[in-house]
Amino acid sequence: MESMGGGLPQSHPICLPQNALTPLSGGRFSCGPAPNSWVGFLCCVHYDEKKGWVLRMRSQYPVWPDNKRFAFTIFDDTDLGTLANLRPVYSFLRDLGILTTKSVWPLGAVAESAEYGDTCENPEYLAWLKELQAEGFEIALHNASFKTSKRARTAQGLEVFKEHFSSWPKTMVNHAACRENIYWGANRVTGSRRVLYNLLTWRKQDNIFRGHLQDDPLFWGDYCKKYIQYVRNFVFADINTLKVCPFMPYHDPEKPFVNYWFCSSDGKNVEQFNRVIVERNQAKLEKEGGLCIMYTHFGKGFFAGGRLNSKFEKLMRLLASKNGWFVPVSTVLDFLRSQNGGHRITGAERAQLEWRWLCDKLFLGPT
Ligand SMILES: [Zn+2]
Repeated sequence: MESMGGGLPQSHPICLPQNALTPLSGGRFSCGPAPNSWVGFLCCVHYDEKKGWVLRMRSQYPVWPDNKRFAFTIFDDTDLGTLANLRPVYSFLRDLGILTTKSVWPLGAVAESAEYGDTCENPEYLAWLKELQAEGFEIALHNASFKTSKRARTAQGLEVFKEHFSSWPKTMVNHAACRENIYWGANRVTGSRRVLYNLLTWRKQDNIFRGHLQDDPLFWGDYCKKYIQYVRNFVFADINTLKVCPFMPYHDPEKPFVNYWFCSSDGKNVEQFNRVIVERNQAKLEKEGGLCIMYTHFGKGFFAGGRLNSKFEKLMRLLASKNGWFVPVSTVLDFLRSQNGGHRITGAERAQLEWRWLCDKLFLGPT
C-alpha cells in the first residue's frame, strides 16, 4: 500500500489489494482510479477515528458526490394526488432541500380525474408542476393516463409530456390499472418465479399487460426504448434499496424495451413511509452509506385535515439534518450508471432479485 502522505485521512476506506488512493475534495480519499469510483473489493480496512483500524467486508456502495454520507430520494406515484393535497407536501420538501421525483398523467379529462387524482389537463395543476420542475424537482411519467391507453394515446401522452416539460420523461413507473404496462404482472419475473407468482395470484396477472408485445394494440415498447431511460420494477421492505439491488440501474436482456431498471423501497402510504424512515432505519442507512429510493403516493394521507402528518414531518426534518444527497431519482441513477457502466444483469443476479422480491411481496402486498 502506498504511503498516503499529507496526513492520514479520517474515516476513509482502504481496500485491499488496491495500491492507489485518489484524493477527493474535503481531504477524503477514494479507492480506485477515479473520484467517486465504486468500492468493490473483497474486504476493506477502514480507519475510524475512535476505533482505529477496522477490518470489514467490502462495501457495495459508491462514494457519494459532495462528501455525502448516503443518498435518499422519492418517486411519488400520482394516484390520488391533487393540487390541494400535494402542494403542502412539496413546499415542505423544497424548504428542507430535498428534491425528489413527481410522476404525472399527461392526459385525462378533469371531470373524470376527480376519482383518480389530477392530470396535466387541469391548467392550475399543470402550472404548479412547471413551478416544481423549475425548482429542481424531476417530473416523471406514470403512463399516459389513469386508464388503459392504446398505442396512439400513449404516443400522444408522451408528446404532451414533452410539450409541457420540454423533454421526454426520463423516469417512468407503470400504473397498476393500465393494461399497456410494460413487463408487468407475471412478466415482472422469469422462470420458476413466474410459475410461483401465477400460483400466488391465481393467474389473474398473467398475460394481462401488453405494452411490450409487438403487434398488440397496446404495444409501446419501442417508444419506451427510444424516450425513457429508467423504469421501476421491484420494491422491497429494506430502507437501503442499493443493499438489495447493488447493481442498479441495470439492463435486462430478457426485457429489451426497457433501457435500465431500478428498484425502490416501499413507502406506499404515509403509515408505511413513516415505518421505513423511523430513526433506527435512518441511522442504518447512514451507517451503511447506502441509497433509499422511496416509492410512495403523496396523495395517500401525507396531508389531511388541513395539516401535514406530524410523524412524517418530524422524521423528514431529522433526515434532512443528516449529511445526505437529496436529489431526484434520475440524478441518482445517472450517477450510479456512470459508476457501473450500465450493468447488464446476469441470470444469477436476476434469480436472486426475483426470489427476494417474492419473499418481500408475501409481507408487503401488491407492490
Ligand atoms: Zn399508480
